[in-house]
Amino acid sequence: MRTAICPGSFDPVTYGHLDIFGRVSQLFDHVIVAVSRNPIKNPLFTIEERVEMLKSVLANYPNIEVSSFDGLTVNYAIERKAIAIVRGLRVISDFENEFRMALTNKKLACHVETVFLMTKAEYSFINSSTVKEIASFGGSLRNLVPPVVEEKLREKMKNLGLVKEG
Ligand code: ADP
Repeated sequence: MRTAICPGSFDPVTYGHLDIFGRVSQLFDHVIVAVSRNPIKNPLFTIEERVEMLKSVLANYPNIEVSSFDGLTVNYAIERKAIAIVRGLRVISDFENEFRMALTNKKLACHVETVFLMTKAEYSFINSSTVKEIASFGGSLRNLVPPVVEEKLREKMKNLGLVKEG
């Protein structure tokens, strides 16, 4: 069985991420969408909330599993017997960082490949930070995130008192 891991923060999951997951699920037998517990990043959503949102939007993909992990992505890939780490590429500026990470991961585990999928043009501008900023100004998120994520974002912004006047 060929397993791939899609690691990330997914704070929160967007249509850009979902497009990549859908395509990866056709290339591999089993896909693990793995939410990183990266203590350096300061996420808006808790790990449990991010996992829950991912599970809800990926419920119709029988070969996709959602999980979370601590520590290095390569170690988690080895532990889960994944043969590939899949990352999405949006813009040229993603490339440098992704290239460095892929080379580092190759050094740490030479049998785990990094696979890059190019974003679809219509999703190339979407990222989680922009989505959070739009939500904080009460803007429309209709074509950026699934309805369940939009609802959670609005709720979170309201609870944290983060909704600003647009
Ligand atoms: P990280 O903190 O690891 O970059 P993200 O949640 O921002 O986590 O992204 C996870 C993965 O999804 C990365 O490979 C990123 O390049 C990819 N990604 C994010 N947004 C998009 C998008 N709009 N189109 C394609 N890939 C994307």
